[in-house]
Amino acid sequence: MSTLLEMKGICKSFNGVPALQDVQLTLESGEVHALLGENGAGKSTLIKILGGIYSKDSGEIYIDGKQVQISNVKEARENGISIIHQELMMLPQMTIYENVFLGQEYKSNGFVKRSEMIEKTREMLKFFSLDLDPREKLGHLPIAQQQIIEIVRAISFGARIIVMDEPTSSLSDKEVDFLFSAIRRLKKENVGIIYISHRMSELDEIADRVTVMRDGGYVSTEVIKEVTREELITKMVGRTLGDYYVHTHTPSDEVVMKVTNYSDGDMVKEASFELHKGEVLGFAGLVGAGRSELMSCIFGVTKKKSGEITLEGQPLQINSVRDAMAAGIALVPEDRKQEALYLDQSVRYNMTIEVLDKFLKSGRYNAKKESAIVEEYVEKMSVKLASPSQKIIRLSGGNQQKVIIGRWLAGSPKILILDEPTRGVDIGAKVEIYHIIDELVKGGVSVIIISSELPEVIGMSDRIVVMGEGRIKGVLERNEADQERIMSLATSE
Ligand code: ADP
Ligand code: MG
Repeated sequence: MSTLLEMKGICKSFNGVPALQDVQLTLESGEVHALLGENGAGKSTLIKILGGIYSKDSGEIYIDGKQVQISNVKEARENGISIIHQELMMLPQMTIYENVFLGQEYKSNGFVKRSEMIEKTREMLKFFSLDLDPREKLGHLPIAQQQIIEIVRAISFGARIIVMDEPTSSLSDKEVDFLFSAIRRLKKENVGIIYISHRMSELDEIADRVTVMRDGGYVSTEVIKEVTREELITKMVGRTLGDYYVHTHTPSDEVVMKVTNYSDGDMVKEASFELHKGEVLGFAGLVGAGRSELMSCIFGVTKKKSGEITLEGQPLQINSVRDAMAAGIALVPEDRKQEALYLDQSVRYNMTIEVLDKFLKSGRYNAKKESAIVEEYVEKMSVKLASPSQKIIRLSGGNQQKVIIGRWLAGSPKILILDEPTRGVDIGAKVEIYHIIDELVKGGVSVIIISSELPEVIGMSDRIVVMGEGRIKGVLERNEADQERIMSLATSE
């Protein structure tokens, strides 16, 4: 093996916010080199620099030991670099071979040599055991095959360094196997592959070495066989797994909300439970157990059919979300993209949309006050952003979630209901969200957390309500809860 690529001292800032600081990476020929890091660690930025999409602020790139300048995609290609992006970059309405030869058509005397391109494509497809007609429309193929076509295209350009940015995120297990066998063939041809993924299990299977990045910095490079998953996670998040869940508070016995015999006439059947002040109350159960439905009903999203709620000892009528919010209840829904985010809008807008009346003093909008609140919660939730005017869609999943939680905290709720708060969130942001929850309950807020990750419910909650088939099957104290007990309650008759 010989060193194909070396990147060193790479730095890059966006609008003054550093995204990469002194990052390095080496790639041998015939090597699969994994690039590992949480969302926002800087992986995509690093390879976009390699691919000539972003320009670096400083640093050097060497190919076969010779320093190269890569200032655009064409120069990257001329240096044998090809990037398969997270989003496929091809034209679905065109044929396979047209996609493969896009921008490099075979021509003689100005005429396009169709049959030669078709034959060449057929040959390359065979190499990857794809028995397809090159004249078929690309869009008709499953995503995994489209990805292989992108690889074929890269090779037809003479790529020796192929970067795959989270290629398996939308693939089934079988498709992943197929992609991996394609990667193994490329290895045999001495192509070097940079493989970005945060699926730890894949790395053991396909990668030779791994470089870990964290917060835009280089952490270390390891031989896959010589490093454990735990060690990699620790490197990735900068903490050990033991510190993962945060539970430093003591709940009170005081009942803040009592729900009695709640039914929605559909999924939820006579649910009763009590929530204590300063408590984290977990809701566990299988998918479809009725947990989200119960919370939607309490929050006034759906109508109840029967049941009562008392809040701090007083009966409470909730007929709408407005009623629930006025009573000091907040709910962060499960599907934040669908239900909670205004993707086209700024972070500021997304954070303050629910508390606008705070900045409307006698009908006049108080921008200063709004900015102050946004600043306070960006800081409290340690949201990573360039500016509050930035569109929220630019933020990682973890940071989006923090903005939404911040939105509800800005209204100072007594009860905060979090439905799957850490789904799709990277490990570092998860830990931050756990800290926020722990701090909130210390401040007297009561938190309900629905989670399908049992270790998370067990690690975070003071008590755990187990639901099944729309009913509450039991309540476990923190010290008696384990995965087995929860599962046997969830599935009990
Ligand atoms: P990863 O791929 O590891 O998830 P990225 O390289 O996408 O991380 O992002 C690293 C950091 O750079 C993030 O904080 C991200 O918000 C920021 N960033 C990436 N691209 C841009 C851009 N075009 N403009 C502004 N900030 C960006
Ligand atoms: Mg990325």
